[in-house]
Amino acid sequence: MNPSSDFVCRIQAVVGEEVIALHEPNIGQREQEVVSACLASGFVSSVGAFVGTFEESLARLAGVRYVNAVSSGTAALHVALLAVGVKPGDEVLVPSATFIATANAVSYCGAIPHFVDIDPRTMGIDPHFLDNWLESIAARTSAGTVNRHSGNRIVACVPMHTFGHPVDMEGICSVAQKWDLRIVEDAAEALGSMLNGRYCGTFGDVGVLSFNGNKIVTTGGGGAILTNDDEIAKQSRHLSTTAKIPHSWDFDHDDIGFNYRMPNVNAALGCAQLEQLEEMIASKRRLLKAYLEAFESFKSGRIFVEPLGARSNYWLQTLILFEEHEHTRDDLLGVAHAAGIKLRPLWKPIHSLLPYRNAPSSPLPETERLARRVINLPSSSFLV
Ligand SMILES: *Cc1c(COP(=O)(O)O)cnc(C)c1O
Repeated sequence: MNPSSDFVCRIQAVVGEEVIALHEPNIGQREQEVVSACLASGFVSSVGAFVGTFEESLARLAGVRYVNAVSSGTAALHVALLAVGVKPGDEVLVPSATFIATANAVSYCGAIPHFVDIDPRTMGIDPHFLDNWLESIAARTSAGTVNRHSGNRIVACVPMHTFGHPVDMEGICSVAQKWDLRIVEDAAEALGSMLNGRYCGTFGDVGVLSFNGNKIVTTGGGGAILTNDDEIAKQSRHLSTTAKIPHSWDFDHDDIGFNYRMPNVNAALGCAQLEQLEEMIASKRRLLKAYLEAFESFKSGRIFVEPLGARSNYWLQTLILFEEHEHTRDDLLGVAHAAGIKLRPLWKPIHSLLPYRNAPSSPLPETERLARRVINLPSSSFLV
């Protein structure tokens, strides 16, 4: 059998032969009930009990003091960066192997994303590489860490948990401490993932989740900001609710804030979805086992498995092609699409996209290697 038909057969052995999406929401009876109750209450917008309930459930689940539910993961990143003190002209260290929202949120602050390379074992920022890179380009000054080439402050780092797999947060936190960087943890894909028993999104000064329709748990569209820090919590809530000073009737605003609050109807959907998170993760871990078996003797690549010490939510299942087969990627994608299997490669690395071609960057050999080799497989949580 030729390699691309072999590839399609292995996927179909797991997911069947119908047309299949990369990832679809898993919506059942419970979601219908809770959203209907919300609609019946008449409180569908920015006031209503489901938002508070959703925030409390998330806080209890992740073990953090404060959760602020907002309208998207991108909005959550934007406000989190502002809340840790990112200012126009600052540089923020981000992976290039990520969804563009990670870099865009930095740009919304008037700040500059500065790309750094990843560790192929986690697909996220490599702390050793990060430290070496800072040693070679940065200086500690009384104003904080400064990029010696641009003269800009380097104030924060945004590690991202690729496809739900925990990045080495302990390593990144110690580098951040050494260089006096704030950490905004982009856990948009990693709800429920853990590293050494601790939830992703709770390692940094602040963490961010997404509940977009393609994520493991959805609110239609939505996001959340997680933190244990009183000031960050206060500031992020203030900025995401138009910086309005709470008052029964008066409209007084002390800053230029944003209309980022999560609507109640979205939170209602989130409450019902969150009840099923553990079952969804269990389903994704069963799917991993099925793919591991189906691809055991596959000649062109291997299924990615979570790093040591991690419990990944396996949001998206990943095949990594071997170097000698990476040139076959587009063939495999093309034949799979023709068979109705909607696979995708890694995002184009952000440093290669038009808006970010001139942004500061370390060498990115591992990012570029990964970008040639990743294929995400169908990953919905109802498949097996
Ligand atoms: C989905 C995602 C976001 C943005 O979330 P939205 O809710 O779609 O705005 C940010 N970062 C990463 C890595 C994501 O996957």
